[in-house]
Amino acid sequence: MLRGMPEVGHQKRVEELLEGLNEPQREAVTHGEGPLLILAGAGSGKTRVLTHRVAFLIYTGQAKPGEILAITFTNKAAGEMRGRVERLLETDTHGMWLMTFHAACARILRAKGDLLGYTSRFTIYDQSDTRRLVKRCMGELGVDPKRFAPSAVHSQISQAKNRLLDADAYAADADPGFGEMVSEVYRLYERELSNMNAMDFDDLLFRTVNLFELHEDVRTRYAGTFKHVLVDEYQDTNHTQYRLLQLLVGGGRREPMRGERVDIPGHRNLAVVGDDSQSIYGFRSADIRNILDFQKDFPDARVVKLEQNYRSTQTILDAANAVIANNRGGIAKHLWSELGRGGPIHARGCEDEHGEARFVVGEIERLTDEGASRAEIAVLYRTNTISRVIEDALVRTKTPYQVIGGTKFYEKAEIKDAIAYLTWLSNPFDVVSFQRIANVPRRGLGQTSLSRIVAHSASVGAPVWEVAAAAERVPGLGAAAIKSLGRFMSTMQELAALVAEGVPVGDLLEAMLSRTGYVEALEAEAIGGGEKSFEAQGRIESLQQLVEVAHEFDASAPSEEDTLDRFLQEIALKSDSDTRRDDEGLVTLMTLHNAKGLEYPIVFIAGCEHGVFPHQRAIDEGGLEEERRLFYVGVTRAMRELYLTYARRRSVFGQPTFALPSEFIEEVPSELMDRDEPSRPRLGGIAPAGRPRVGAGSWEAPANGARTRRERTTVAAQFRLGEDVVHTAFGEGVVTGVEPGGIIVVRFAGDGSERKLMADYAPIGRR
Ligand code: ATP
Ligand code: MG
Repeated sequence: MLRGMPEVGHQKRVEELLEGLNEPQREAVTHGEGPLLILAGAGSGKTRVLTHRVAFLIYTGQAKPGEILAITFTNKAAGEMRGRVERLLETDTHGMWLMTFHAACARILRAKGDLLGYTSRFTIYDQSDTRRLVKRCMGELGVDPKRFAPSAVHSQISQAKNRLLDADAYAADADPGFGEMVSEVYRLYERELSNMNAMDFDDLLFRTVNLFELHEDVRTRYAGTFKHVLVDEYQDTNHTQYRLLQLLVGGGRREPMRGERVDIPGHRNLAVVGDDSQSIYGFRSADIRNILDFQKDFPDARVVKLEQNYRSTQTILDAANAVIANNRGGIAKHLWSELGRGGPIHARGCEDEHGEARFVVGEIERLTDEGASRAEIAVLYRTNTISRVIEDALVRTKTPYQVIGGTKFYEKAEIKDAIAYLTWLSNPFDVVSFQRIANVPRRGLGQTSLSRIVAHSASVGAPVWEVAAAAERVPGLGAAAIKSLGRFMSTMQELAALVAEGVPVGDLLEAMLSRTGYVEALEAEAIGGGEKSFEAQGRIESLQQLVEVAHEFDASAPSEEDTLDRFLQEIALKSDSDTRRDDEGLVTLMTLHNAKGLEYPIVFIAGCEHGVFPHQRAIDEGGLEEERRLFYVGVTRAMRELYLTYARRRSVFGQPTFALPSEFIEEVPSELMDRDEPSRPRLGGIAPAGRPRVGAGSWEAPANGARTRRERTTVAAQFRLGEDVVHTAFGEGVVTGVEPGGIIVVRFAGDGSERKLMADYAPIGRR
């Protein structure tokens, strides 16, 4: 008889709840009080056990909804768990703490952060705010950001926080040089955050631990409230999270870190589930010992192992097991599936990333034609940069898709800016576009000046374009603003003249990007190094893609009239259909890290190349095993069909780079795969400068005859060291450097200046 069952009606429900579970799963779900560890391989129902256990605890009266804290790793996983619990309980999950560590901590700090000196309205800085602040602190301390990348300094600070080291504790162990510099930045950074009533992501956890350690009454209140604590993906918890759990449930590690209390009393109702083979956050200080040592921390813990996989075909499981066997150590697991062998894994090599994208999208079309729903399909990749070309192919074939944890192409700031420029050229009344672009890139036009222009245009009833073009008539506008508006508007009028001449949209867009200084501003950032420059580089690449979209539009445009308007309309509809969800659902794109815990009938893993996946940095820094675990995570997301694709050649920062297939593909036993690749890679197509020639004769050549971005890039970027060039504004010069991202350095004869230019956009040619 089940303990504590409140009503007879419930008994049937509880039985139903337990029916869909195998024996060990049932044991875990019905486990009473005390520590519980569920350690098992992918797809064995760990998350299912956790959700059922939450429902079970409530049904049987062992806990009220508000007395359960169930932690997941991502917001998406939290959402899924909420859905599952709601379906099981047939009520909403209001009052339940079903969320990520960060969300739970933010909630606690909103309520109690005043005890640490924060108001309840504290700001949470995201990754880019955080980086900017670190950079500013480095600047204030006179640290050269060219010598030390702000991203590296921030990563040190973040790791310190994940190990519960504040600035003083960090300084105590810091080595002279880099470590000392970091501890100074750390100290200033903390002061700045606190002055601004702000926290970064790591602080959410760190401050909650501080709160519980400094205020025993608060700790005991929360520890008493949460009668049961459950944690999914426990293999990826870091030390701070570990400590937080200890403070909530009591017990824990016998060998404390410096200064930690060990004798924490508590109910020890902690249920954790995880898989050491899926530990993929070591680079962010996750500590795999947390799961491996759980039995040491809690010698009386009940341990449940699950061996039946309910997700994947045996072929997919065999592949996953074979690959992970190449890692040393790890807890052996014997996963088996009743779902049958299934079809082979499709491994496909393509000539380049565009070929890969066409293959992926072609297969998606074929599968959906055959009756698969788009919602059943996921495309996974190691880094966000891989998704762009695939997104582009999806947009072109009008395949609805969503990107988890990233921004979609037409929602990116730089794309919206570029479109806003064109829109304002087409519609001089468009105040929203004007306000978006007038000071982007920065022209010293503040919000007040812009508001005055807009207000004046409303009061005289003239288009905002006209008012901006006669800025001296706008009341209250300063001399500096008038001057910079004058410059801005004369550029815009030049562009408007191009529109009147009916120049193709692609050319107009290129002229706009170079004459307004938009790309130049990004180039300046791109050269700086570090995360920021990486971002700027990505923006430049997106804009290049938009230029390509425009050229293709021109190539297919039937008439010369109103091309700009028709182009804008097409784009508007594209972005609109992007966000529409129809019955057949959306194809999902995301990084492998974001895919943790999820499952899809059909999975593509794109960019399976040495240097991309495994990632070059991981290879350099000895992180191959973690990359392999990530591959294992990717493979085990698939239920029925798995595709592993790679490109022989891929543009990295605008440079075509040759690659070998990932070693992980080679580790999949060949009898499980149906493998196909271009038998003879067309290495004959390499231009003398080391760049591939594109198009002519290659089976990847675009069918519509439009110039592709690669052709354009290749044509434009074929400048070589020492070559004589001429620039429309700076005159004659010579190429003194060629840098990644299509950037060339040119020394100009006229004024002796050396300038970095974007070969694709700068008005420059050979002499
Ligand atoms: P991962 O390691 O990837 O997080 P997991 O161990 O958490 O996987 P779940 O996501 O809980 O696995 O389960 C995998 C799939 O198997 C889900 O679709 C789940 O509903 C199904 N499943 C689990 N247990 C059973 C069962 N006893 N009967 C039927 N289906 C099950
Ligand atoms: Mg899971």
